[in-house]
Amino acid sequence: MLKGRFAPSPTGRMHLGNVFSALLSWLSVKSKGGQWLLRIEDIDTQRSRPEYAQLLMDDLQWLGLPWDGEPVYQSQRTELYQQHFERLQAQGLTYPCYCSRADLLAAQAPHESDARTVYAGTCRHLPSQPEKPAATRLIVPDKTIAFTDGHYGLHSLNLTHDVGDFVIRRKDGAWAYQLAVVIDDALMDISEVVRGCDLLHSSPQQIYVAQLLGYMPPQFIHLPLLRNTAGQRLSKRDRSLDMATLRQQHTAPAIVGFLAHLAGLQPHPSPITPHALLSTFDWRKVPTTDITVAEITHATNP
Ligand code: GLU
Ligand code: ZN
Repeated sequence: MLKGRFAPSPTGRMHLGNVFSALLSWLSVKSKGGQWLLRIEDIDTQRSRPEYAQLLMDDLQWLGLPWDGEPVYQSQRTELYQQHFERLQAQGLTYPCYCSRADLLAAQAPHESDARTVYAGTCRHLPSQPEKPAATRLIVPDKTIAFTDGHYGLHSLNLTHDVGDFVIRRKDGAWAYQLAVVIDDALMDISEVVRGCDLLHSSPQQIYVAQLLGYMPPQFIHLPLLRNTAGQRLSKRDRSLDMATLRQQHTAPAIVGFLAHLAGLQPHPSPITPHALLSTFDWRKVPTTDITVAEITHATNP
């Protein structure tokens, strides 16, 4: 059974970019008769709020994007992360990192890593200082990981030169996205991961972690980003395009129809349900260049 997933972080109301990912991920897996699972990525307890998880589920239902089964909460899976972490530790592949600025960089949310810094391995050979708070890094080999993205094609990078030893547990004890995502996708039996192409370059890291843990990586399919008129990836700061505002001004089919048009799935931004897009969905229609959005247009009520 083909399984896809949507894995939002409940750190704010969903915005149009999140909905774009959810819609394409849903269409991709549902058009092939698969299941679409929901994972609430509330691993960062400082930034996540249960209210946002509730709201995003309500928004998905409202949009006509139902998920299969019960949602999975990362906050309830810390034991699983711990077990896998210990397996990596036992293989001698980890070390404590005391660097504070590097730690800050590593603590960035996955999408903030546009300006990527390669960690120089500063702490790799330091004696461990158990009393000092430390992040934990995974040692990477000088190895090139190549994979074929379902939308962007062949992509490869070298773990040493392009990534460096990366954080799998933060200094504050929180599990890093790069570790948790691999464990969850594997244990939830996810075969297809659809998400924004700002995570394209995280995929080799995740493939590497999967290899170390003996899991088969999913097929990755990345999609173009929605950007605001300043060229920034849509985020919580773009209030006019968050679901609270959008739901006051538009119907669900109007929002879906607008996004389907941006995705190349229909010639005009006319209102449509996700379900009605299933039979003609095709990744080959979807652009690979990022898309600028100022406001929802031509998406008046049916
Ligand atoms: N929680 C991450 C996000 O909000 C998930 C990224 C992924 O799909 O792997 O983007
Ligand atoms: Zn360090």
